[in-house]
Amino acid sequence: MNNIMAIAEMLSDQIQQELRVGHTLSDVEKTARTLLQEIGRQTIALVVKGEEAAQLAPEAPCAVCGGKMPYVRRRPAQLRTMFGQIEVKRAYYLCADCHQGCCPLDERLGLRPNALSAELERLAAMTGVLLPFGKGRNLFEALTLVGLSDQALDKATQAYGATIARQEEAWRATAYDQEELQRRKRRERKPLRLYGAIDATKVHTRATDEYPWRDLKVGAWFEARGQPPRTPDGQWRIQAENSHYYADICAAAEFGSLMWATGVQYQAQLAQELIILGDGAEWIWNLVSEHFPKAIQILDWFHATAYLTPVAKAAFSAAEEQEAWTNQAKQALWDGKTDQVITTCLDLAGKEDSSDPAFVAARYFHQNRARMHYPDYRRQGFQIGSGTIESAAKQIGTMRMKVPGATWNEISARQVAKARAAYLSNQWDELAAHRTRLLAA
Ligand SMILES: [Zn+2]
Repeated sequence: MNNIMAIAEMLSDQIQQELRVGHTLSDVEKTARTLLQEIGRQTIALVVKGEEAAQLAPEAPCAVCGGKMPYVRRRPAQLRTMFGQIEVKRAYYLCADCHQGCCPLDERLGLRPNALSAELERLAAMTGVLLPFGKGRNLFEALTLVGLSDQALDKATQAYGATIARQEEAWRATAYDQEELQRRKRRERKPLRLYGAIDATKVHTRATDEYPWRDLKVGAWFEARGQPPRTPDGQWRIQAENSHYYADICAAAEFGSLMWATGVQYQAQLAQELIILGDGAEWIWNLVSEHFPKAIQILDWFHATAYLTPVAKAAFSAAEEQEAWTNQAKQALWDGKTDQVITTCLDLAGKEDSSDPAFVAARYFHQNRARMHYPDYRRQGFQIGSGTIESAAKQIGTMRMKVPGATWNEISARQVAKARAAYLSNQWDELAAHRTRLLAA
């Protein structure tokens, strides 16, 4: 601690020299930060230099062929760190047998010559998943004093997304391996009750065909605590826990295999009760039936009831009548009287018009009636509203991907969405560690 105190005293002298009389706390904070940044930068340079000198040898073992690598020369490299750019020199060795060359110090310290350091990349990518790159760049610089280009933020974020894509590929490879599945069955904890949810949102891409919008599909695995309210308009106090999100821009079948692969990671296939919530989209239920045939399928309560208001608006002119009808129909759905609601809607529907909201609602309820046994679900304490996944689709899709005026390259949209899903799953630091291990390997 004495060392730190000595440094602080020196820094304090320096600040007082630099600032004039009449300075404020803000001036002191800013100056201290700038000086500390520079001290950090020089410190890192000294540490790297010290490590390099300590390890310098006439030769090093070759990692490729096991032969001897004689020392050749010191090679310069730029390191981009949390404290700014640093020029370092590292000993370079070249194998006499296989002619592979390397700087052992890079591997040992995890240096990334002429690229962002692991720590800088971790924070840059985190910023990139939270904010559009332009805004992110400004905030990043304000908070860290490190200037990065939009492209650097973009690249870091995408690198994280690409790491997840690779991880998912590895999961896919094991998720269809019978031995691995048997091993999980024997060894892993079987969840008592696990929820899944799937949804989709649109992303505007630069695709040159007539329809540049792509479906960003989002899925989640989670546990839930709490009970649904006693009445349809009661307060919802259900909390999702341990939520893991996944996302992709791909065909439904491919997303299905991702659902399976991520599901296996969280033992969805072993769950005693597996409950999957979704809106009425047919592709979702097809995938669920294919991959998790035993799952209990529930039509999301909020999606179901959202069909009622347009029916009331089309059928009645007075606001009170609209409200009264909506409440009555909602209560009927809540009580599991789906057929009654279908009949009522069909009575209200225009005979020939299949776009009539009443007809649309009737068809929707009819298609999903097997997933609308709400009284049963409530009795068993199941969550019936997929608020969790809805907000994830919004958070992943709408909030980050729908930048006004921006269109996405499909690959980068996919990677940024994956990175964002990992961030929202609280997997960021784990992912950073995984990425560092991958790069070191
Ligand atoms: Zn060699």
